Amino acid sequence: MNYSNIPAIGIDLGTTFSAVARLDASGTVSTLLNAEGDRITPSVALFEGGQAIVGKEALKAISTEANSIALCAKRDMGSKVFHQAIENKQYPPEVIEAFILNKLRRDAEDQVGPVSKVVITVPAYFDEVRRKATQDAGYMAGFEVLDIINEPTAAALAFGYQHGMLGENSKPENVLVYDLGGGTFDVTIMRMCGNEFTTLATDGDVQLGGFDWDNRLVDHVADKFVSEFYADPREDVCARGKLWRECEDAKRTLSARAKAAITCDYQGFSRRIEVTREEFIQMTQDLVDRTRFTTVQTLHAAGLEWSDISRILLVGGSSRMPMVRDMLRQVSGQEPDASAAADEAVAMGAAIHAGNILSLNAGNPPSFQIRNVNSHSLGVIGMDPATRLPRVGVLIPRNTKLPVRIRRKFKTQKANQRSLLVQVVEGESSSPDNCTFIGNCKIPNFPPNLPAGTEVHVIFQYMPDGRLKVDVQIPDANAEVSQEFNRENNLSKTLLDGWRQYISGEAPTDYQ
Ligand code: AMP
Repeated sequence: MNYSNIPAIGIDLGTTFSAVARLDASGTVSTLLNAEGDRITPSVALFEGGQAIVGKEALKAISTEANSIALCAKRDMGSKVFHQAIENKQYPPEVIEAFILNKLRRDAEDQVGPVSKVVITVPAYFDEVRRKATQDAGYMAGFEVLDIINEPTAAALAFGYQHGMLGENSKPENVLVYDLGGGTFDVTIMRMCGNEFTTLATDGDVQLGGFDWDNRLVDHVADKFVSEFYADPREDVCARGKLWRECEDAKRTLSARAKAAITCDYQGFSRRIEVTREEFIQMTQDLVDRTRFTTVQTLHAAGLEWSDISRILLVGGSSRMPMVRDMLRQVSGQEPDASAAADEAVAMGAAIHAGNILSLNAGNPPSFQIRNVNSHSLGVIGMDPATRLPRVGVLIPRNTKLPVRIRRKFKTQKANQRSLLVQVVEGESSSPDNCTFIGNCKIPNFPPNLPAGTEVHVIFQYMPDGRLKVDVQIPDANAEVSQEFNRENNLSKTLLDGWRQYISGEAPTDYQ
């Protein structure tokens, strides 16, 4: 790779922990330490007077100031506001993520000087709305987001790069990346061949991660506590927060030992409760089973058998749980590969990708190519002629190679029709209610006097990053037609600029 003098920075913006990596001029990729001297930073923000303290300090305050803390904001990406008011304010989740990214930026700048151009990772299973929200978070944190890259792709890239698997003479491999982080689960099958990284299939769950394993322990301990003392620590946010930290710690212990003790204090009562690994496995069996189901389904979606997979790459902190490794061993008959740095590989892959883009921008040939697929089907809402009910018509099925471009022909219903509204969704159901609404594509300015039945072509394009682009053409009318793609939950440009200034400290007031 040829490097520019701009630092190549990759950010893994995780649900529970985040990491920043850099590819240096010698081609070495490493994770940067944060201001506290750690390689990973808790993705937790403690708000005080509209400003956020992010990381370890914020996490410590969970047992005393839980009402001022934003935890797992990534899980709410795509929603209008974070599920809990903080200091009586409703923050959009991407704004909370921007505060976290801002801390990561400042800490990185202490080591490598000014940082503006970055690659940020997203779960492969993130839909279009969540991808846009992540790019917006990056913008509000003062970055220019060069690209977003799927987390499993980044992990595979880091692995391939560090093991010398990139290059003309390397042996082709089908790698299954099992990525179980703090809040999301992704499984992706990639083909690494020469300098090409091609995603064959991807699936996942944006509401499944280590946090759910923690919550099972919280419930187990709290139920025992309630049966003995008739007091429920889950009712008080601070007591719950403290118990959660104890449980998260015990969960890690259970990855290494056969049992762990959890202390619970509430309303003057105290109890130390022991949990064995066997008990923990039993109480979370359904969660592991969900990942098994998705893994097998993805293998089939790629049209492969286990014998076609040369490596099962474990990524994400939660893949350290022995129950995960046992399940994968059992289902695949193979030993999973845990040699990638579970917490750091994703950020490293993002930094390598950033290096490739910067090198390309400087006029050099690409060192490698990433080919992606869409993780959700793209559709438009129409009327079912038989039932007269709204129904989703799929335009681009999931796991289609990107970029992809598809033209959908609509017809004007009446003479002199001046506009058209197309409702765009992502999802696998024919019912719009079970899909994610992406936005309304409004085409407002048809030329006058078009006859009824005039064709209007709407062109949908998934770009390589999984983002959507929409164009409109009316072939029979010799006129420019514009469209306004209005997204349901996204912040306006004015708000994005306002937050960007506020978060960087340039503007005194926030944008509620
Ligand atoms: P990541 O987003 O990849 O940093 O993963 C964070 C998640 O991994 C959190 O839920 C952690 O509790 C979990 N985790 C980290 N280390 C371990 C471990 N040794 N055993 C079980 N879970 C872990």
